[in-house]
Amino acid sequence: MQDDRNIVIVGGGFAGTTLARRLERLAIPGHRVVLVSEESYTTFHPMLAEVVGAAVFPEHVVAPIRQMLHASRFVMGRVAAVDWQRRTVVATTLAGRQEIAFAQLVLAFGSRANLELVPGLAEHALPLKLIGDAMFIRNRILQRVARIELESDPLLRRRLGHFVVIGGGFSGVEVAGQLADFLRGVRRYYGRVAGDELRVTLLEGAGRLLLEMPPALAGAALASLEARGVDVRLGARAAQVHGDGVRLADGAWLDSATVVCTIGTKPNPLVERLDVALERGRIVTAADLSIPGRPGAWALGDCALIGNGVAADDPGGVPPRDALAPPTAQFAVAEANALALNVAAQIAGRPTRAFRHVSKGAMATTGHLKGVAELFGVRLTGLPAWLLWRAYYLLQMPTLGRKVRIWVEWTWAMFFAADITHLRFTRTHEADAPDAAAIAALAAAPLRP
Ligand SMILES: Cc1cc2nc3c(=O)[nH]c(=O)nc-3n(C[C@H](O)[C@H](O)[C@H](O)COP(=O)(O)OP(=O)(O)OC[C@H]3O[C@@H](n4cnc5c(N)ncnc54)[C@H](O)[C@@H]3O)c2cc1C
Repeated sequence: MQDDRNIVIVGGGFAGTTLARRLERLAIPGHRVVLVSEESYTTFHPMLAEVVGAAVFPEHVVAPIRQMLHASRFVMGRVAAVDWQRRTVVATTLAGRQEIAFAQLVLAFGSRANLELVPGLAEHALPLKLIGDAMFIRNRILQRVARIELESDPLLRRRLGHFVVIGGGFSGVEVAGQLADFLRGVRRYYGRVAGDELRVTLLEGAGRLLLEMPPALAGAALASLEARGVDVRLGARAAQVHGDGVRLADGAWLDSATVVCTIGTKPNPLVERLDVALERGRIVTAADLSIPGRPGAWALGDCALIGNGVAADDPGGVPPRDALAPPTAQFAVAEANALALNVAAQIAGRPTRAFRHVSKGAMATTGHLKGVAELFGVRLTGLPAWLLWRAYYLLQMPTLGRKVRIWVEWTWAMFFAADITHLRFTRTHEADAPDAAAIAALAAAPLRP
């Protein structure tokens, strides 16, 4: 098959992998799918909070892209540029710079975490966007609790034991709930740490949590968090983050050595190099998800600004705010399903269709075995919502073997204590290396008679 018959997808997240699988099923004659992504796996972001709380293992929230695809080619590499004249993408791979020709190009490379929204965030807060972030936060929590055991200064103990989460959206609510449960679960292994020395505060600038959900469910989430001892502060904005605490916009001060940031995204730096129309750093698409002025090019997911339910004959431009598709996993998947049909239609010379999706609802966990959900208008709280959430993500996992393994491990984890292993990635030569600080202390110690 000629390379210039490639349908190249940039980005192996929710949007890119769903699209590739859908295109495989459509089996467009004479074309093959090439998925280029910088990691070898796709991350189920909505479950990252559960990795933070050690409710699931990190491998349970990622899926290897090669196992998700069957007839497509996967290239692990970071796309650095698109040459629209020669119709190639330029990628940096393990084997150096590679050029991949395309007949159709789909951009699905998501967004990045924004640590510039509040002064001090970048220096002192812990973002939650990647699987590495979640593992780092989990380790940091265990490190803090272990350190409290060894400290006698009450102020330092208070700072070390106070965990502040910024943002009362889905991930903030989930992280706060998971943190509270995790801290309660691990405390019994740290005999010198009292229960009231471990606290979680959730800061939300708006007047309520989960703005994406109906007020009744947001209220249920608030009650569930408060029942777990989380101090939820509504209408509270972080104005400055320091290494030892957070200053709020109203002047109040929170002593805290650990701040988790779940707010804000910024554009992937690749968008600036594409020479396409942007709005707030996102690629402006036509109603059918094509990129105006770039024949055979499309965009979807978090990197794109997409109208939902815009008329097919719309002259283009930026849709009004209330007609925009939100940057969520559910919409990324719906866009991918619609786009696969449009790519096939365009290749076959048939008319394409405008994207339209009615939200099926939303779900969020508020800690171990607790959650809130609204699905097709039906509202659930507590364990049923949590089970629904887990079932949904289990179904997304590729291969039967992986599904069964994860289901068994999740069921096991429902009844037993969370894992408190603080894994340090120390390698043999580091473990065997002389401890520089210990040697310096030895050298400085006075000689004994
Ligand atoms: C902590 C957290 C919790 C969330 N919770 C929810 C939730 O509960 N419900 C919900 O609906 N949504 C949730 N979201 C949002 C949801 O995850 C995103 O909307 C969704 O992942 C968007 O899919 P995407 O494919 O556009 O981008 P992503 O899933 O981010 O995928 C982008 C992919 O592109 C790759 N990539 C980036 N740059 C390049 C490059 N230059 N070259 C090659 N590859 C590249 C990345 O490695 C990544 O694999 C959450 C997000 C986060 C961070």
